Amino acid sequence: MEMKTAVVPTAKGKNTLKPDGGFGRFFLPGPTEVAEEVMEAQMRPMIGHRGAGAKLLMENLQEGLKDAFRTERQVFVSTSSATGLMEAAVRNGVKRKALSLVNGGFSSRFADIVESCGFEVERMEVPWGRVFDPQAVRDRLKRGGVDAVTLVHSETSTGALNPLAEIAMGIHEFDDVTILVDSVTGVGGTEVQADAWKLDFVLTGSQKALALPPGLSFGVASERMMARSRAARNKGVYFDLITFSKNQDRMMTPTTPALSVMYALEVQLERIKEEGLEARWARHSAMRKQCCEWVDAMRERRGVNVSVLAPEGHRSPTVTTIRMPEGMSSIPVVAGVKERGFVIGGGYGKIRDTTFRIGHMGDHTVAGQEAVLEVLGEVLAS
Ligand SMILES: *Cc1c(COP(=O)(O)O)cnc(C)c1O
Repeated sequence: MEMKTAVVPTAKGKNTLKPDGGFGRFFLPGPTEVAEEVMEAQMRPMIGHRGAGAKLLMENLQEGLKDAFRTERQVFVSTSSATGLMEAAVRNGVKRKALSLVNGGFSSRFADIVESCGFEVERMEVPWGRVFDPQAVRDRLKRGGVDAVTLVHSETSTGALNPLAEIAMGIHEFDDVTILVDSVTGVGGTEVQADAWKLDFVLTGSQKALALPPGLSFGVASERMMARSRAARNKGVYFDLITFSKNQDRMMTPTTPALSVMYALEVQLERIKEEGLEARWARHSAMRKQCCEWVDAMRERRGVNVSVLAPEGHRSPTVTTIRMPEGMSSIPVVAGVKERGFVIGGGYGKIRDTTFRIGHMGDHTVAGQEAVLEVLGEVLAS
């Protein structure tokens, strides 16, 4: 199959034209496309993970990571995918029973983790695509009985963005209820304020909005979370936040970290700093707007009855989940796009066949997304 070539600017405005078409063809909502210079950083030789070089590397990473989370606290670097730190959130941050806010596939996973770690869970559910009303969460907490809340900031399965700051504010009215947040497709792509919003634990993974290869995840814990962790029993070895913190005091990780991904991160944090975190958030919002307007135009002007699953005002800047016309499967659409040299995501979980997803996060740009939307339009209209 002959691939079309496209010259697509990267976030830095550089053309990285390669024989396979260069940057701007891979729009999965994770892993996301990684810029060439970030990939290349992984070629650096190995170093001892307890030596001076590793400490310097860790120190260099902290500044940029703290900025991404908007925190003054340590940012833990875990060699695991993000699910690992979801488990850490639960093992260290739940005492007896958690309220899990479930509005999609990943928030459902969070609830399952609570249960499988041996804690009680109460699932509070809204339909997939919807977000939580902070008042409803508050009303439930008034009845007592839970000591932690798990939630997903940006539900990558549905493209819905929870009003995290407002929900967190509501939870803070209650004593000793920790807020455990999966912001895997939030951090780096949209505003997250770990300190100002007093999140007890907030985590992300390397391969989403930070646009790195998979292999690392990052988390920030509040003082209260660390106290919970200190008192927690049976929290295992690998995800003990006290061990993370003690190691981090000396700029180390508890176990051998994925050094190659850390090299990539060092380069990527420089690129993020160059762009500016707020400019990065704005670029993601612009991609969301472009994507949603395109969906409306497909429906209103080209007669293809597609729609954005999440309601307006609650749409994630990093991923858009698009509903297929009634009775039509998304599977041939994803395949058709692939035949034309682009990758988009299929639906997730129970909406696998009825939706598809565009991951417009990381280093993608409005100009780059135009190309995939054009191809997608051709496929949908054919
Ligand atoms: C991708 C994703 C995860 C899981 O990440 P892994 O790195 O595959 O463990 C969890 N939560 C959300 C919201 C995600 O998008």
